[in-house]
Amino acid sequence: MRVAFHTLGCKLNFAETSTLAGKFLDQGYERVDFNEKADIYVINTCSVTGKADRKSKEAIKKARNQNPEAKIVAVGCYAQLQSEKIANIKGVDLILGCNEKFRILEYLKNHESQEEPEIHTCALEDTVKYNPSFSKGDRTRSFLKIQDGCDYVCSYCTVPMARGKSRNQSIESILEEARVIANSGVKEVVLTGVNIGDFGKSTGESFYGLINQLEKVQGIERFRISSIEPNLLNNKIIRFVSQSEKFLPHFHIPLQSGCNDILAKMKRRYKRELLKDRIEQIKKHIPGAFIGVDVIVGFPGEDRDKFRETYKFLEDLDAGYYHVFSYSQRPGTSAAGMSGKVSGKEIKQRSREVQQLAEDKKQKFYRQHLGKMRKVLFENRNDNGSIMGFTDNYIKVEVDCNDELHGKIRDTALKEINSQGNVTGEVRSD
Ligand code: SF4
Repeated sequence: MRVAFHTLGCKLNFAETSTLAGKFLDQGYERVDFNEKADIYVINTCSVTGKADRKSKEAIKKARNQNPEAKIVAVGCYAQLQSEKIANIKGVDLILGCNEKFRILEYLKNHESQEEPEIHTCALEDTVKYNPSFSKGDRTRSFLKIQDGCDYVCSYCTVPMARGKSRNQSIESILEEARVIANSGVKEVVLTGVNIGDFGKSTGESFYGLINQLEKVQGIERFRISSIEPNLLNNKIIRFVSQSEKFLPHFHIPLQSGCNDILAKMKRRYKRELLKDRIEQIKKHIPGAFIGVDVIVGFPGEDRDKFRETYKFLEDLDAGYYHVFSYSQRPGTSAAGMSGKVSGKEIKQRSREVQQLAEDKKQKFYRQHLGKMRKVLFENRNDNGSIMGFTDNYIKVEVDCNDELHGKIRDTALKEINSQGNVTGEVRSD
């Protein structure tokens, strides 16, 4: 039997798809590409924006077109939140929510084909189980889940409604998984979750305690911390990273707005000054660190003046990149009922402006590093015959192809910025 997977959304979803795939492989299934004919298609859905909803639906339809006889299983956040909508798509057999997806084989075994799809989702208060996961199949990098759910109630966000309360596994069990990853030869591990700075709530531990222990795991050369809330990124963590041999000088921080009125309406737990202070602390202790910042444009009430305030704040900030998200109204959130809606056309225009600023910031950061030597983990061969990788501080580097570099970390001289906006490099020979 052949099974194919398609994953939408965040790194956490990717890690969890690997766990689901492992369950099938253990039972003797063959995993094939999503574009191939399979007997079972599993779509791990996302619902973070309206676009994510649409893409989830499109993937389901694509699976049906590829093999109308196949069993189609929709799992994950969109399946949890909008199971009835998915049930209306022709050809879906099974719909499993965030908890239930980990019992996919059991549900498939008991499933009998019928006109209506079978739906298994549980109430939010029952979404309490923690399912460990890490991604496999890539020799260079693995996404390791350390936390799930979120106790915050940001007014635009639907994630806590799908994934439930903040919870985590113990440091000890994460260390065991990290050792398994190390034994598979993977060089870089990205710590992922919904709100990873909140790690430790359910086990009486802390994120700081976790990274201290992970540093000691033999065999893994690099750890990256994925997105961490500014109010949880404390000085202890920053100082630890500055002295660490394995935790990379790379931070990803969700700001969302550079206007304090909008941050309050978003129910974020900080003012913009905190973000500025966090970045100053990082730069003081780790001058070469790359800092990516998330921004949402077009939140209700963000009039032209408030947007300009945000833009000016972003212009002055010493960030390396902005990840721009267009506000998307999510059913069931408090922001959905707020006045002051921004038109789609205006949101697109604001998004373009911040994206341009983001590119300028990135190029500036790259230029600051030309002529320097950084360690690059090499990944994939490009169509143009080069091989690419990322420096410790997240600069995308291309060098002339040498297949022996794949999966290796090498000191690389950063030369110039090419027409694709990447940095060309030269590997230092040993
Ligand atoms: S911190 Fe806010 S934006 Fe992030 S998952 Fe929790 S509720 Fe959503």
